[in-house]
Amino acid sequence: MTLVTALAVFVATIVVVAVLVIAAWPKGGKSGINLSKVFCPKCAEPMPRIRRPKNERQRLWGGWTCRKCGCEMDKYGVDINDEEAAV
Ligand SMILES: [Zn+2]
Repeated sequence: MTLVTALAVFVATIVVVAVLVIAAWPKGGKSGINLSKVFCPKCAEPMPRIRRPKNERQRLWGGWTCRKCGCEMDKYGVDINDEEAAV
Protein backbone atom coordinates (compact mmCIF):
# COMPACT_ATOMS: atom_id res chain seq x y z
CA MET A 1 0.00 0.00 0.00
CA THR A 2 1.46 3.32 -1.03
CA LEU A 3 1.19 6.47 1.01
CA VAL A 4 -1.31 7.92 -1.48
CA THR A 5 -3.54 4.86 -1.20
CA ALA A 6 -3.38 4.99 2.59
CA LEU A 7 -4.34 8.65 2.50
CA ALA A 8 -7.24 7.95 0.13
CA VAL A 9 -8.54 5.19 2.43
CA PHE A 10 -8.18 7.51 5.42
CA VAL A 11 -10.12 10.33 3.72
CA ALA A 12 -12.79 7.91 2.45
CA THR A 13 -13.27 6.57 5.98
CA ILE A 14 -13.80 10.07 7.37
CA VAL A 15 -16.33 10.86 4.62
CA VAL A 16 -18.27 7.63 5.28
CA VAL A 17 -18.34 8.28 9.04
CA ALA A 18 -19.49 11.88 8.48
CA VAL A 19 -22.29 10.73 6.15
CA LEU A 20 -23.41 8.09 8.65
CA VAL A 21 -23.49 10.60 11.52
CA ILE A 22 -25.53 13.07 9.45
CA ALA A 23 -27.89 10.29 8.31
CA ALA A 24 -28.37 9.06 11.88
CA TRP A 25 -28.93 12.56 13.30
CA PRO A 26 -32.52 12.99 14.48
CA LYS A 27 -34.61 14.98 12.03
CA GLY A 28 -37.32 15.59 14.58
CA GLY A 29 -37.62 16.14 18.28
CA LYS A 30 -36.05 18.77 20.44
CA SER A 31 -32.45 17.81 19.70
CA GLY A 32 -33.00 17.70 15.95
CA ILE A 33 -31.67 20.27 13.54
CA ASN A 34 -33.89 21.97 11.01
CA LEU A 35 -31.98 23.53 8.14
CA SER A 36 -34.92 24.27 5.91
CA LYS A 37 -36.65 27.60 5.82
CA VAL A 38 -39.52 27.99 8.26
CA PHE A 39 -42.75 29.81 7.52
CA CYS A 40 -45.41 30.91 9.96
CA PRO A 41 -48.10 28.19 10.16
CA LYS A 42 -50.82 30.85 10.25
CA CYS A 43 -49.84 33.65 7.89
CA ALA A 44 -46.93 32.05 5.95
CA GLU A 45 -44.54 34.85 6.89
CA PRO A 46 -40.95 33.60 6.40
CA MET A 47 -38.99 33.46 9.64
CA PRO A 48 -35.57 35.10 9.84
CA ARG A 49 -32.59 32.75 9.99
CA ILE A 50 -31.04 34.76 12.79
CA ARG A 51 -33.61 34.70 15.54
CA ARG A 52 -34.04 36.68 18.70
CA PRO A 53 -35.41 34.38 21.41
CA LYS A 54 -38.34 35.95 23.19
CA ASN A 55 -38.47 33.49 26.07
CA GLU A 56 -36.57 30.68 27.76
CA ARG A 57 -38.12 27.97 25.59
CA GLN A 58 -37.03 29.67 22.38
CA ARG A 59 -33.54 30.15 23.79
CA LEU A 60 -33.27 26.45 24.63
CA TRP A 61 -35.11 24.73 21.82
CA GLY A 62 -35.43 27.27 19.05
CA GLY A 63 -38.55 28.54 17.42
CA TRP A 64 -40.00 31.91 16.59
CA THR A 65 -42.72 34.31 17.42
CA CYS A 66 -44.15 35.59 14.15
CA ARG A 67 -43.55 39.31 13.83
CA LYS A 68 -46.63 39.64 11.65
CA CYS A 69 -49.36 37.78 13.56
CA GLY A 70 -47.66 36.93 16.87
CA CYS A 71 -48.10 33.19 16.37
CA GLU A 72 -45.61 31.04 18.29
CA MET A 73 -44.00 28.07 16.56
CA ASP A 74 -41.19 25.63 17.18
CA LYS A 75 -38.09 25.31 15.00
CA TYR A 76 -40.02 23.17 12.51
CA GLY A 77 -42.64 25.85 11.99
CA VAL A 78 -45.31 23.98 13.96
CA ASP A 79 -47.78 26.08 15.91
CA ILE A 80 -47.11 25.42 19.61
CA ASN A 81 -49.97 27.34 21.17
CA ASP A 82 -52.09 24.17 21.31
CA GLU A 83 -49.24 22.27 22.97
CA GLU A 84 -48.81 24.91 25.68
CA ALA A 85 -52.52 25.07 26.33
CA ALA A 86 -52.57 21.31 26.95
CA VAL A 87 -49.87 21.45 29.64
ZN1 LIG B 1 -47.63 34.73 11.36
